[in-house]
Amino acid sequence: MTTTLITGANKGLGFETARRLVEAGHTVYIGSRDAERGRRAAERLGARTVRLDVTDDDSVRTAAAAIEADGGLDVLINNAGVEERADGNAVIGAADVTADTMRNTFETNVFGTVRVLHAFLPLLRRSAAPVVVNLSSGLASLTRVTDAGTPTYAYPGVAYPASKTAVNMITVQYAKAFPHMRINAVEPGFTKTDLNGNTGIQTVEQGAEIIVRMAQVGPDGPTGGYFDAEGTLPW
Ligand code: NAP
Repeated sequence: MTTTLITGANKGLGFETARRLVEAGHTVYIGSRDAERGRRAAERLGARTVRLDVTDDDSVRTAAAAIEADGGLDVLINNAGVEERADGNAVIGAADVTADTMRNTFETNVFGTVRVLHAFLPLLRRSAAPVVVNLSSGLASLTRVTDAGTPTYAYPGVAYPASKTAVNMITVQYAKAFPHMRINAVEPGFTKTDLNGNTGIQTVEQGAEIIVRMAQVGPDGPTGGYFDAEGTLPW
């Protein structure tokens, strides 16, 4: 039996990933910073739930202790993420970004990922086939962001892409440190969720595809990579 935790799974891509992995036979924990939203989501899917705010040490430690007491963890999906926007859903560009915007974004997307990884590493190390999936973005790719004439080039935000480039680096360094784990970064594609004010062009079913695939890689699968549904992405 495979036990899987998805952070920020009460809605959006995390919820759809939970739905698919429950269907695939995983025991899934819906991580949610709001206990009631988590409970409702878990009830809809026949999943478990755990209260988990990735910006809060105590909450993450308590969640790890609870899942450990229930039997441990095989798959961790670091999905919780934020993209701070200005009024009217405008992306915050270089003229307006502040240290606070950077700090808030990094607190969830970067420090949150490390906080959760650090707390759950002891559990993952005891799994026979440990897997980590980190939610990156196409906007993390320095190659793509500097490729003139593409939508990725045209995206003006600073904090969000910088945070996801950091997620890519975290992925590579953890993958090297823990060669018996499969640790990959994924780009779901521009998906209609609350994160982007539902302006995305893909459905959550399409977006969750690569997350679900990378959550199910076997011990002979890739590690330290950066993938979307079509294959490997340039860093
Ligand atoms: P979403 O619908 O806004 O869902 C984000 C989830 O993260 C929500 O469950 C939210 O919980 C949770 N969350 C935020 N801060 C949290 C915290 N401090 N602790 C725990 N949970 C927290 O967005 P989404 O599009 O599904 O995003 C999922 C991941 O995919 C993110 O990492 C995002 O960067 C990445 N991604 C999305 C796209 C896209 O186009 N949508 C593209 C590339 C990458 P609440 O309900 O409590 O707010």
